[in-house]
Amino acid sequence: MAAFWENSRQQTENESSCPSATDLDTEIDVNCCVVETVSPSNDDYTVVDDIDERDEVGRDSDDDYDHDHDNDDDSSTTADADDCDLSHFLVQWAAQFEIPQIALSVLLRFLHRFHPDLPLDSRTVCKTPRNTMTKKLHNGGEYIHFGVKHGVEELVKCGELSNVDHLKLQFNVDGLPLFKSSGMCIWPILCLVLESSSREPFVVGIYCGPSKPTDLPAFLSDFVSECSELVATGISLDDRVFTVELNSFVCDAPARAMMKNVKSHGGYYACDKCTQEGEWCGKVVYPECTAPLRTNIHFNEMTDDEHHLGPTPLSSLPIGMVTGFPLDYMHLVCLGVMRRLLLCWLKGPLAVRLCSRKVEQLKNNLLKMIPFIPREFSRKPRSVGDLLRWKATELRQFLLYTGPVALLDVLPEPLYKNFLLLCVGITLLINPNLCEKYCDYAKGLLITCVENMKVLYGKGMLVYNVHGLVHLADDAQLFGPLDNFSAFPFENKLKSVKRLVRKPSFVLQQIARRLHEKSTISNVPKCNNNGHTFFKKEHFCGPLLPGMECAKQYKVMCLRGSTLTLNVGDDCVAKSDGEPCIVRNILCIDGSSDPILVVENFESVLPFFDYPLRSSSIHIYKVIRPNGVLDVISASDVLCKCVRLPLNDESFAVFALLHTV
Ligand SMILES: [Zn+2]
Repeated sequence: MAAFWENSRQQTENESSCPSATDLDTEIDVNCCVVETVSPSNDDYTVVDDIDERDEVGRDSDDDYDHDHDNDDDSSTTADADDCDLSHFLVQWAAQFEIPQIALSVLLRFLHRFHPDLPLDSRTVCKTPRNTMTKKLHNGGEYIHFGVKHGVEELVKCGELSNVDHLKLQFNVDGLPLFKSSGMCIWPILCLVLESSSREPFVVGIYCGPSKPTDLPAFLSDFVSECSELVATGISLDDRVFTVELNSFVCDAPARAMMKNVKSHGGYYACDKCTQEGEWCGKVVYPECTAPLRTNIHFNEMTDDEHHLGPTPLSSLPIGMVTGFPLDYMHLVCLGVMRRLLLCWLKGPLAVRLCSRKVEQLKNNLLKMIPFIPREFSRKPRSVGDLLRWKATELRQFLLYTGPVALLDVLPEPLYKNFLLLCVGITLLINPNLCEKYCDYAKGLLITCVENMKVLYGKGMLVYNVHGLVHLADDAQLFGPLDNFSAFPFENKLKSVKRLVRKPSFVLQQIARRLHEKSTISNVPKCNNNGHTFFKKEHFCGPLLPGMECAKQYKVMCLRGSTLTLNVGDDCVAKSDGEPCIVRNILCIDGSSDPILVVENFESVLPFFDYPLRSSSIHIYKVIRPNGVLDVISASDVLCKCVRLPLNDESFAVFALLHTV
């Protein structure tokens, strides 16, 4: 999160057609802001010795590789200091740029002429393990278990868990197709230690097979038995002991259904959270917002036999089988509801479909914003013509920032207001400092949003994902803001695991070896600059105010995890009173630890919208023209970085930045 929100208190206004924040509280208070293989003693496991990965880029069969390999094992022990450095550099370089083993070996053989002590085989310099244990499963798939304890050990080596003795573990299981030409897929089990400073998940185990893991007990047996043991005994590493708690499983709907062994999201009793029977409306929909809720006890007793397909090995773990599986907003809201709404507006029923002139206007509005997108976003807005290729982060950007601007005067008012219910509800649940206090209010907004969708878009709109909105705030009540239980960090890890596979055979062995190689080079403490303030690009161009002539001037400042610059897109901040301004210069004065910003205020600052609340109370404004008057504020008076998007030639919508993405 862009971690710099401070307090401000502003009155909110509400309309009768939406739940009233005033009923709860008349004010909103914005405070924002690798692995070595283990060898389980299990007869099911088989050892694959020393697979040959040389064919991955196609080698001639008559080369002399094998001879080189036979006599190189001990060479690193006799290498002189220079060659050790070179060897270490090559390992890091190969891992960083994902250089294939065969390419590294070719390079080593060339360098060997000049550095005779350098090993000839990439497997020697990378310390690639020669044996890999995998377990055969009945459906033709296989599984490899690296272990939770091993992952925690790696985190400790990297200095990630200093000052921590209790670990909350969050898990993710998801399936990934490997090659377009075959049905081969992998299902990694990932673990995120919520206390880790990098918040980067590690791999606990991976299934690989021609279909999803149909034999759930076999797939999960190592995982379940290890987790049970760790919760009971903790993790002992050297002189440290960690107690362990299973926090949650964050999965998309199909993976959640598989892990819980319940009806999948197209079924009639598929809602994870309530007991309503779905209705057929061309597809199964869930029209009720207040059906009786499921409980952990009812799940374990399997009282609703329409919901369950059978028992799940996970129910033996100390985690709620209903409450421990929160709904993930990356899949549910971004890829689910937001994309569905956009598809409705572009290609849906005539009653809600935009005419071609409005679609063109929407496209132009989005493209106009490109120069104004802050560097914290990895992607710029793109045409809605590419909608099916939009990533989750793009859909999130649209929901929270660009959508409310791009859709203004494009969507009919009832649809626009309904979209604002979703936008504000999710904004409140994402914000770490608003989430807890306004959880019930956000829940009311989201339920109203779903009820209105039934009227505006028809009952057919209330599919699994849309219905899930009514339960989202309950999960936020248990786990905190939505980023505490989202699939975003896991999604990145899954992509990196998939990239480790370069050929269709010995998939798990390839992954195990690459992970091991990465672990041998990454066991160094990671430095985290998020909390530090630093400057770049000194200049001498001003503007300066009287008395500041001696100050050093900079074009770039990193402040509490966000980057401020003098360029459009990164030049807007909110001051401590919440009002936005534009940064015109960044100054550092000798003897002062608090940098100074030369800023320009706006002629007029207004709420951007008044429904379902006055948007200024969540730091969303409409601003008109910079007023030409320079002012100074100290960096400590910056509330947060803002996103400033053009409304017309002289006015902008300004949003407090919620994410550093
Ligand atoms: Zn439900």
